[in-house]
Amino acid sequence: ASVDDILDRLCATVEDYPKPGITFKDLTPVFADPEGFRVIVHALTEPFAGQFDLVAGVEARGFLLAAAAAFATGTGVITVRKKGKLPRRTISEDYALEYGTATLEVHEEDIPRGTRVLLLDDVLATGGTLSAATRLMERTGAHVAGIGVVLELTGLHGRAALAGHRVRSLQRIA
Ligand code: IMP
Repeated sequence: ASVDDILDRLCATVEDYPKPGITFKDLTPVFADPEGFRVIVHALTEPFAGQFDLVAGVEARGFLLAAAAAFATGTGVITVRKKGKLPRRTISEDYALEYGTATLEVHEEDIPRGTRVLLLDDVLATGGTLSAATRLMERTGAHVAGIGVVLELTGLHGRAALAGHRVRSLQRIA
């Protein structure tokens, strides 16, 4: 089946989650489907084949995609974590939420300078999360070879927040 067929069949749409007026796209049924998971992981890595040495995933759903993508391509995996979870020396970047800010961190020493990183997450909305993750990678001296997401919510203009980077989304939703 094609990526579109799989996402149309398996991605769940939840109205009024996490709060009234928000429509949440839930990809967990895609991850739970053997063919669905294999197809989306392959589709996320394929455009960047041979162009990355590490895959970085954003906590938490991005970890699933990044780990599978790294395993499938014989590369390593980096966890981009929420604040306070990593035990060694970290660098951090703040990003805006609807109310307040959040912080992402990585272990600086886990990413050698010049490493080519493929950055993955499940959904691109405003782009705040992936733009903070991109800044973290660049501060370590890594090169962001590409950014991949399963769904892009185009109305929130996340792609503009990631200008200058190669962004591939498997499906765009208005
Ligand atoms: P952004 O920072 O506004 O681009 O939001 C992206 C982050 O929020 C990602 O880590 C997503 O996992 C999460 N997110 C935003 N909207 C959705 C959604 O509809 N479904 C699942 N995750 C979402």
